[in-house]
Amino acid sequence: MNLLELQEWVRADWEQHSPVRPDPHMQLLYLFEELGEMAEAIRQRSGQKEHATHTTDLGEEMGDVLVALATVANNYQVDLEEAFEKARAKIEARHKLGTEA
Ligand SMILES: [Mg+2]
Repeated sequence: MNLLELQEWVRADWEQHSPVRPDPHMQLLYLFEELGEMAEAIRQRSGQKEHATHTTDLGEEMGDVLVALATVANNYQVDLEEAFEKARAKIEARHKLGTEA
């Protein structure tokens, strides 16, 4: 599944299962919540989270982050493939500058 398909799947899932959608700001908070769960999974993996009451699956949490990010992108009509291409162009330009220096 590519990023466009991810966004379309998320959009269709919201339309089919959640006719009353949460406020976009709440969905942004949900993205932060999922990022926190991903951080928790990384802390568990690195042994930095003592007294863990449950095991958090890092891959599953990254999946949650992707879905939450796609939801936010859809709310603001952002094409994630285009967004990625902009980010890639910036990184590649930075690397090119680095090789010329
Ligand atoms: Mg999660």
